[in-house]
Amino acid sequence: MLKKKIREKNKDMHEEIIEMGAQGKSKIKHWTAMKEEITSGKSPDYMNRLSQNKCSAIVRARNRMIPVKKKQQNQHQNMTCRLCKDPNTIEQQEHVIEECKTTTDQIPHKIKYDEIFKEQDTKTMKQIAKTIIKIHEIIENNT
Ligand SMILES: [Zn+2]
Repeated sequence: MLKKKIREKNKDMHEEIIEMGAQGKSKIKHWTAMKEEITSGKSPDYMNRLSQNKCSAIVRARNRMIPVKKKQQNQHQNMTCRLCKDPNTIEQQEHVIEECKTTTDQIPHKIKYDEIFKEQDTKTMKQIAKTIIKIHEIIENNT
């Protein structure tokens, strides 16, 4: 019963974050309220330790919300990674985070894809978040 409630709450949260991403910074107030709500309930520990920008980056990556071609298949006929342009690639999260030569050349700390799903110490979580933010920027600058 309670588990179901939490699951529903998380689902709501993710939908709100998607909406927020679309609407940009005007929703920061909304985010603060939402963050308070989740921190009062059962929220992952990292949410209390990271800035909202970094939390949001982790949430986005975990929910596969980085705007890679695989996410927007209807908008792309050619799924090849637009960053490295290697014809053997598919532009999806795993590729841009862990394999893509273009992003890994530009990020100071390489991360393994499955690291984004682990609970780790604050320093590591911050590093991962920074990397995700940077990769997101690289993709947006190449859109
Ligand atoms: Zn690539």
